[in-house]
Amino acid sequence: MRFRVDPTRVYTHQRLLEDVSRLCDQYPRSLRVAAAGYSEQGREIPLLSIGSGERRLLATGAIHGREYVTVGFLMKSLQELLEKNSLSIFAGYDLLSRCTLDVIPMCNPDSVEMCLGRAPLPQGAEVVPQEYKNNANNTNLNGNFPFMWEQVPPERDKGPHPASERETRLLMELCEENRYHALLSFHSRGDCIFWRDRGNGQVEGDSALAQELCEQCEYSLCAETLLPKDYSGGFENWFRYRFRRAGLCVELVADEEAGFEICVRDFYRLCRWEQTRHTLRVAMECMLHRF
Ligand SMILES: [Zn+2]
Repeated sequence: MRFRVDPTRVYTHQRLLEDVSRLCDQYPRSLRVAAAGYSEQGREIPLLSIGSGERRLLATGAIHGREYVTVGFLMKSLQELLEKNSLSIFAGYDLLSRCTLDVIPMCNPDSVEMCLGRAPLPQGAEVVPQEYKNNANNTNLNGNFPFMWEQVPPERDKGPHPASERETRLLMELCEENRYHALLSFHSRGDCIFWRDRGNGQVEGDSALAQELCEQCEYSLCAETLLPKDYSGGFENWFRYRFRRAGLCVELVADEEAGFEICVRDFYRLCRWEQTRHTLRVAMECMLHRF
């Protein structure tokens, strides 16, 4: 029987590893899988790649543990691309011979496990497990990157020094190695796209990519992020600074009141799957044609 990703079931770390290997068995010629590295507690962080082109896109999920709905979103999106590729739907315009897509569905697996009550929270964590988003050292990875780090307020749990965390360094090394043309970092609060910050100003492709995704997938466009306390230390902000290329934060789920587990149970409605399912394809096409 053919395996299908089910984004309405919560992804534990174990389930992610199992589904990755199922996808691998099903699409042995088009999907490549490697360990991008390991979390602070030693959990493997899988990296899935398709395509062979020179334009490279990186898509990441669950940098905040509680936003694990993004894991299912990326796995489901990837399976759709693999399926279409196997039916030669992209052959007409060679999407996957001109682009390479790297996906890390779960950047912060320790945090996901803690959120799901499968591992204890670190000392000093001040929230209930379901609300937990930091890593195993109680550091918010999205405030730990070496971009204006000194200006990240301590209440954002930015860590003892820039890039102090394994997960942060792993993402940085991957970006350094692959020189991506664009980054989409998925979160799950707001159904909107953050695309520019005042500190970096304009970078290559930022407005083209953000506008295209808003038009075709019906996200709303956020205003430029103005205050250093909000944009310093972030993954996509560091990416803009380091490479001068488009790094977008894509927030799934408009309903900010919906609990994190409900986002998974009611995935198709709350993530607006009919529109957002095209996000990765639209981003690749935009990279090819618009910048
Ligand atoms: Zn987040």
